[in-house]
Amino acid sequence: MGRIWRVSGPLVIADDMRGSQVYEVVEIGEEGLVGEIVGLEGNKAIIQAHEDTLGLRVGEVVRGTGTVLSAELGPGLVGSIYDGLQKSLLALGESTGPFIKRGAKASALPRERKWQFTPEVKVGDAVSQGDIIGVVPETDLIQHRIMVPAGVKGTIKEIRQGDYTVEEPIAWIRHDGDVKELTMMQKWPVRKPRPYKQRFDPSGLLTTGMRILDYMFPLALGGKASIPGGFGTGKTVALQQLARWAQTHLNIYVGCGERGNEMADVLVSFRQLKDPNTGRLLQEKEIFIANTSNMPVVARESSIFVGITMAEYFRDMGYDVLLVADSTSRWAEAMREMSGRLEEMPGEEGFPSYMGSRLSSFYERAGMVECLGSPGRRGSVTVAGAVSPPGADFSEPVTQNTLRIIDALYSLDVSLANKRHFPTINWLTSYSLYVDAVKDWWNKHDPGWEDTRANALKVLQQEAELEEIVRLVGPEALPEGDKLLLLVARMIREDFLQQSAYHEVDTYCAPVKAGLMLKTIMKFYELAQEMLSSRAGIDSIRSSPMVYRISRMKDIPNEVFEERVKELWSEMEQSLTAGKRIS
Ligand code: ADP
Ligand code: MG
Repeated sequence: MGRIWRVSGPLVIADDMRGSQVYEVVEIGEEGLVGEIVGLEGNKAIIQAHEDTLGLRVGEVVRGTGTVLSAELGPGLVGSIYDGLQKSLLALGESTGPFIKRGAKASALPRERKWQFTPEVKVGDAVSQGDIIGVVPETDLIQHRIMVPAGVKGTIKEIRQGDYTVEEPIAWIRHDGDVKELTMMQKWPVRKPRPYKQRFDPSGLLTTGMRILDYMFPLALGGKASIPGGFGTGKTVALQQLARWAQTHLNIYVGCGERGNEMADVLVSFRQLKDPNTGRLLQEKEIFIANTSNMPVVARESSIFVGITMAEYFRDMGYDVLLVADSTSRWAEAMREMSGRLEEMPGEEGFPSYMGSRLSSFYERAGMVECLGSPGRRGSVTVAGAVSPPGADFSEPVTQNTLRIIDALYSLDVSLANKRHFPTINWLTSYSLYVDAVKDWWNKHDPGWEDTRANALKVLQQEAELEEIVRLVGPEALPEGDKLLLLVARMIREDFLQQSAYHEVDTYCAPVKAGLMLKTIMKFYELAQEMLSSRAGIDSIRSSPMVYRISRMKDIPNEVFEERVKELWSEMEQSLTAGKRIS
């Protein structure tokens, strides 16, 4: 047991701490605030406090716990709302009211609730780490698979069917004369990646329901993406959309250092919205971690690592998990603050030199893996993090360090936000290195995807090249073919890429609908080119009723789209070829 020697913001130095370990969790002062040892010098421990240190006095006690920062894993995670230290905010709300006191204790998993456990192995079976020994219907959307914890093996001596809490034993495993009791709860140190059998490249489309992602810059299962953008460009809305509509088994939303009222909006909306494919409430497949701007700065880092640890745990069950973090810049700022207090040698713009490796220790935990244990299964963790560069200047260190790590970039654009073009993902500067990884998926669902995608991106590229000329001579001086190209480029931008998060239908666009929408625009282009070559004027094409019809495709519900688009195509062939005849 040590004593506080000095306090400076989140930095606490304690005396008489011989025998402590770096990263050991300590309890500080009478209230037992959570802290983590980040350095040892002689018998002094340098501690970062994850809770507000205001009012702590020199001489107050500091107790080592002998453990590192760990997450509780087991039934009860799904649908929960946690703070950055995995305290259940719902449980705290019930016990201490809406104003949560620091040092308040609340376990992550409910201790009273009983879960219905059904064994999947029997007495005498040999089991080892990662084996699924039974299942719990946690929500209607998630079956919680209870796994043998890392490092445990032996033969099943006894296993129980029935309703149990996470602390009651459900199985006994015998090994070398010892018997180990298993419960449905495990603990895992959050800074340490969970083990797996083998790692694969990301593959298969992570369907997001956002056209510009799914079709143009796809995210693969197990991938890592970044969404940098200046203030008000739509980072939060984009991440919320991902967390809502991504067709993964489980989504984890980490609100890291952003405004609390936004987090409240997210929580309310998830309690009302339904998953488009199952019709179930979204909160049945969602975990929330809220470490908002008014909460302690240091806990931003733990919120990120607690989140990714939960993601890996569900991955290990064989699920596809998406984690979004808004915003990693706030976490980097917390690192800068702590580093400053520690008087470390500052790197670029005051950020510590280890910022890049710390960020990558988070992103690198994304991936597609063959899980440990039997039955054999694959699972994935996909990560998307927002970056908030001050003044939308992407040359700043957090953006630059992140770009070195990620493989898909959704670059948000202030000028598009000013034009109210949402999402503001810039189609010229964004990219995805997962095009090959999702090719098979797309070819199965929408043959011809690669060509349509490439052709549409080429039209947008050509539009950008023509822009300079248009600025000099005006659009009317262009040849007819270029005028048509500009018309089609505008259709791709406004009728396909633009997508409102607030429109009842357009908020989620199924990939098949997205494919047909873009094919319709490209088909229009083809027919219009034929018209032009048979001497029809660009004006008759511009004024074609098809232009308006195409602009309303967004409003057609996913379920009836295939049928409706067929009508649209036959009308389009009639009206555009009729135009040809008249001329
Ligand atoms: P940031 O987090 O980058 O500061 P927000 O995500 O809060 O920005 O977005 C700012 C505003 O932009 C939103 O309140 C909303 O009005 C608008 N917006 C952003 N994305 C969309 C979208 N996909 N559809 C419609 N409006 C959007
Ligand atoms: Mg935001």
